[in-house]
Amino acid sequence: MVGPGVAMSLPTFVTDDPFSAPGNVTLGEDAAHHMRVRRLETGVRVGLVDGAGMRGEGVLTQLAKRHAIVSIETAEAVEPAAPIHLLLSVADKDRMLWLAEKVTELELASWRPVSFRRSRNVNPRGEGPTFQQKVRMRMAAALEQSRGAFLPVLYPEATVEHAIAARPTGACLVMQQGGRPIFEALTPLIASARERGDPLPVVTLAVGPEGGFEPAEMDAFETAGFLPVTLGRNILRFETAAQSGLAAVRAMLELVTDPDAIRVDPNGMDR
Ligand code: SAM
Repeated sequence: MVGPGVAMSLPTFVTDDPFSAPGNVTLGEDAAHHMRVRRLETGVRVGLVDGAGMRGEGVLTQLAKRHAIVSIETAEAVEPAAPIHLLLSVADKDRMLWLAEKVTELELASWRPVSFRRSRNVNPRGEGPTFQQKVRMRMAAALEQSRGAFLPVLYPEATVEHAIAARPTGACLVMQQGGRPIFEALTPLIASARERGDPLPVVTLAVGPEGGFEPAEMDAFETAGFLPVTLGRNILRFETAAQSGLAAVRAMLELVTDPDAIRVDPNGMDR
């Protein structure tokens, strides 16, 4: 496993299929369109990611209207970041698409929309397979722009009961104004994992609908062991809460992954 390997300036594209080197990979109509918009010509070097951690580099050998072919020269597996999973509300389409972009930049591991009771009267709602395809395209564009290697795994809409039952083992947080400060809630979970020499906890973050959780839904989360956590006293829109909560958890897990990053130099200079 290796770290980022593609030169930062290379135009990078997400493939639908896995690839390896040496070999050829065919990219679809969207990628071919982007290549033409960017005025790429055959013979240029391009970067590739498969969205599942494989990163490669190669040469564009064919650019047609509906497809492009890249001859792959190098391919390497990237180490994933500590996994964070999101249970988000089915909500307004545009707000969900905005969030899809942001969570991809922050390397979200999975995206599971939940049909809460108060999600049902939102209009237009982002749900169904066609909308999920739009989410996937938005995430792919964000991955290309952010030079990431992982796309979130996309799950279809679920009931609250199913989303809770299907969560991975680990630390579970439910975002709620009036909960415990998010750092205070997560720090002991991370500290005890480190003391035991265990891997960092897999984190699941649940965010409610614009109308808020019904009391029974909050009860279901708490009964399942989700800790209510807050990001301050103001009421945040669901996408602000989800993006900020994810960034806060990602920042904490990154610091713990690299403890040297927070060591202070004796001369007073931060490392
Ligand atoms: N009237 C709703 C209520 O009282 O819960 C407001 C819902 S808010 C627009 C949408 C979701 O964002 C909430 O269900 C919660 O999960 C999250 N959220 C909003 N403000 C928050 C805060 N200050 N801290 C943490 N999460 C918050």
